[in-house]
Amino acid sequence: MKHFILFGVVVSILLTACTSQKMTTKRNIPFSNKVIAHRGAFKNTGTPENSLASLKAAIALGCGGAEFDIHMTADNILVINHDPEFLGIPIETTTYAQLQTKTLPNGEKIPTLEQYLITGLSQTNTKLIAEIKTSKISAARSLALATRVVEMVKKLKGQSQVVYIAFSYEVCKKVKALDPTAPVQYLNGDKSPAQLKADGLDADYHFSIFQKNPNWIQEARSIGIQTNAWTVNDEKVMDWLLAEKIDFITTNEPELLIKKIERK
Ligand code: MG
Repeated sequence: MKHFILFGVVVSILLTACTSQKMTTKRNIPFSNKVIAHRGAFKNTGTPENSLASLKAAIALGCGGAEFDIHMTADNILVINHDPEFLGIPIETTTYAQLQTKTLPNGEKIPTLEQYLITGLSQTNTKLIAEIKTSKISAARSLALATRVVEMVKKLKGQSQVVYIAFSYEVCKKVKALDPTAPVQYLNGDKSPAQLKADGLDADYHFSIFQKNPNWIQEARSIGIQTNAWTVNDEKVMDWLLAEKIDFITTNEPELLIKKIERK
């Protein structure tokens, strides 16, 4: 009986060690700076948002990261676009071939995730912030999209350069289950740093959430959770977040934020 109890204690210590190990083995992706270009550096460069040109502009600018949005077509091709519709066509119920009948103002067709990653992974200075969009059809389709995104990143050996973001908590947890050391940031703002920590996630919240919970940035830092704020285009808000030492700021004005950081 004594031996049995001792065995139980040893097993529980080992299990605890393994669980805490799982929580602390998040990949460390070294960012060159905290500037994340929202949908690429599109606004001041005249490139369409979420185009390969806006990604290349963010890279040329030297942003720490470039954010983009991923949807899945009816025939399961992963494409980059913000809205669920691409130039008026609903992506989820349309084939990739049908989407190709439309052209962005700069002459590009809708980029695929594969094309986007290949372009982004041709360098290492600007990391890739991949938003997995929530399906309008079903929760199952959101999870299927998450699975395909993680598979594509692994296929192209992009794990050391990709951070995943999503509004769906289930999608965030799915990505962690598929790639336990991947950095995954939750977007919806309704979980405290401690709740995120329990699920191995980081915080990418609208800046107003951090304004309403002014202790969250520091609290997150103290427990090893990274913080990112979207979408910050106002200088005063940038200054406040920089003073709070937030990890990342997602902005449509990456040129302005880079200048600010260089002045510091
Ligand atoms: Mg996005």
